[in-house]
Amino acid sequence: MLRRAGEGGHQTSPALPQGKETVLKTKDDSESRSPVSIGGVTPDSRLRDLVERLSGQKVADCYQCGECTAGCPVAFAMDLMPNQVTRLVQLGLAEEVLACRTIWLCAGCQTCVARCPQLVEPSAIMDALRQIAAERGIKAPEGEIEAFHKAFLNSVERSGRVHEMGMIAELKLKTRKFVKDVPVGLGLFTKGKLSPLPKPVKDRAAVKKIFKELRKHEETADE
Ligand code: SF4
Ligand code: SF4
Repeated sequence: MLRRAGEGGHQTSPALPQGKETVLKTKDDSESRSPVSIGGVTPDSRLRDLVERLSGQKVADCYQCGECTAGCPVAFAMDLMPNQVTRLVQLGLAEEVLACRTIWLCAGCQTCVARCPQLVEPSAIMDALRQIAAERGIKAPEGEIEAFHKAFLNSVERSGRVHEMGMIAELKLKTRKFVKDVPVGLGLFTKGKLSPLPKPVKDRAAVKKIFKELRKHEETADE
């Protein structure tokens, strides 16, 4: 049985932009499969295929050694450990894995990638799961996490790289939590870690083009 860690604090990482459910269709989707119920839970037989296609990872290669979890700096705040996330994908337990906080808390630091003896990239699996959750309309357990991801991506689209001050301003407007973390923000500002003005990359148009192409791809996939 999977053991959940305690309900800890929150950290976030950038998510893939939201698309539509049809983006995730695979050639196997049209095949009819009989759902098998195990202990009252019906596994989603397509989940592993979807995750593998989106992440490029061979989920089945994970043999649950736990090395990824042992090195994860965010594990203390996660409700499912990184190896448990992979296990749930292997089992097709979509409901539990897509609703967990872990996929939104993963910082994408790649420590797990460096430690995996099977060359599996749990961070890529987390990316894929966030995308699937968003496309299936499954909200992040805390709206603030989702708002952060959107503010991050909007900032990257505008400047070509994240502008922390602008991102924070957008996040505050979205969440209306204006005084939360003010002391932390002031500390960063006085140490010169938060620039009041964005420092755009040279070729902002190229970044905007990436976002434009992505949206076009989503629309095409939906037809
Ligand atoms: S380190 Fe790799 S093989 Fe080990 S549990 Fe994590 S993903 Fe699976
Ligand atoms: S990338 Fe891996 S090690 Fe880093 S926070 Fe995510 S799961 Fe943990």
